Amino acid sequence: MSRNRGENTGPEIRLRKACFALGLRFRLRYPLPGKPDFVFPGQRLAVFVDGCFWHGCPQHYNKPATRADFWASKLERNRDLDVRVAKALQELGWSTLRVWEHEVRADVEAVAQRVQAAVAAAQRLAGRRRPG
Ligand SMILES: [Zn+2]
Repeated sequence: MSRNRGENTGPEIRLRKACFALGLRFRLRYPLPGKPDFVFPGQRLAVFVDGCFWHGCPQHYNKPATRADFWASKLERNRDLDVRVAKALQELGWSTLRVWEHEVRADVEAVAQRVQAAVAAAQRLAGRRRPG
């Protein structure tokens, strides 16, 4: 399913680097519904960085002036897909964390800390102990 998002857009890379700097270790291109940007398989947490335009961020989404109907239905499909993906992941026992591209741009360290907290929460959910 094409969503016209590059596999390695800037905010995703920045967030991954900030997470790595916090000592978080994740996997890329993990085969899961919705193609998460990166995942923590041990904790079953999937992270998505949502583009402000494609996912209709309330702060930055500007309705394009031309082909308004086309873009409105495209946005609606993307949002529906996000909901379906979260549900599919949940059914597989995975949690989902979605962050906005603009949050990464504004304060990547703060977002990385949210990822870290979500990993810890998912770890508790999984009822597993960290090795070591
Ligand atoms: Zn935004």
